[in-house]
Amino acid sequence: MDYAAASPIDPEVIAAMLPFYREKFGNPSSLHSAGSEPRKALEESREKVARLVSAKNTEIYFTGGATESNNLAVKGIAYRNRDKGNHIITTDIEHISTVNICKDLSKDGFKISYLPVDKYGMADPSKVESEITKNTILITLAHANGEIGTIQPVKEIGRIARDCNIMLHVDGTPSLHQVPINVQDENIDLLTMSSNDMYGPKGVGGLYIRQGIKIESIIQGGGQEMGLRSGSENMPGIVGFGKAAELATERMHDDSNRLRDMRDRLIKLVLASVPESHLNGHPTQRLPNNVHLRFAGIEGEALLLSLDGKGINAATGSACSSKTLEPSHVLMAIGLNEVEAHGSLLLTLGRWNTDEEVNYAINTVQEVVSRLRSMSPLWGKNLDLEQWKKDMEQRGHEH
Ligand code: PMP
Repeated sequence: MDYAAASPIDPEVIAAMLPFYREKFGNPSSLHSAGSEPRKALEESREKVARLVSAKNTEIYFTGGATESNNLAVKGIAYRNRDKGNHIITTDIEHISTVNICKDLSKDGFKISYLPVDKYGMADPSKVESEITKNTILITLAHANGEIGTIQPVKEIGRIARDCNIMLHVDGTPSLHQVPINVQDENIDLLTMSSNDMYGPKGVGGLYIRQGIKIESIIQGGGQEMGLRSGSENMPGIVGFGKAAELATERMHDDSNRLRDMRDRLIKLVLASVPESHLNGHPTQRLPNNVHLRFAGIEGEALLLSLDGKGINAATGSACSSKTLEPSHVLMAIGLNEVEAHGSLLLTLGRWNTDEEVNYAINTVQEVVSRLRSMSPLWGKNLDLEQWKKDMEQRGHEH
């Protein structure tokens, strides 16, 4: 139940990829016959990815994944438009890749505005509007937050960006295969896409760039991908990404309905059976696969390890930020304190989770939380939550 960190590749995707490691190994740039099949497959994959987000084939550029697409989009727009302005708007709850890109740009003379979000993690379009200045060149935000699952009002923000003649870049990574994204309807100018979040291979992704928008390339070389992303194409990866996009287009409706049912059952039954448990993120505007809970008196890491011992892979937050002991910036931004943030549990569901596994998770979370609480000297008998919080804060400082 940690599909956000890594998903198995769909068997149909693997089957589509295999020939491109063996008999169809050619380079699409080759003029001889071994290049022609890969060249055809490259363009077919582009078409499949374009269809998923209602874009044109020529607006899709393949990259080495979502992190690279975010770099290409944000730095590419920033450096291309330096003469027009140096101001970028983002939010307080972006993925670590966007956070670090913005940090890097701020060392290079760009001014970044970080929009606060409400207690559900939702950005307010009117606040976006009030941050815009004559120097604003870009708004960048994730379509949905991979950690707490909140889906942003992208269409409204896109309308504001369009009216003010500012580019809108959206990181579509966790949404792409779960919620329909239509770059036309939502006024999206650049869209980051990832293969591994939708049961495709890792290390491949894409960037949609609306026709006519010029950006600076950040990887120079042989001029592949219309000069924007040089380097021999990762053909098995691209074919796998294309197949994953095709499957996502076909299955999104049914897959997401099934995930939503499992998600809602998990949330409802855990909240009902575990005292002092709460949901993080938005109750309805939420990714179909996202369950993010917090439990008073529990340390997320202890819970995670106990669940792992019982066969459940879970997380406390984004896998990309798990190397730090700092509380999640996303949870702090929605107003949780350090103790609450450290008592959180993230379960992300996917295509191969079953109803039985969901039942098992409900019972196991309940059992493990109550066992951990029973071992805590403070929980139960004479619970002094304030003292517990102080102890935890002290331990946080010692870290
Ligand atoms: N953006 C978002 C919103 C993500 O959730 C992730 C991680 N899945 C990434 C970017 C980075 O993806 P990758 O590690 O595949 O580059």
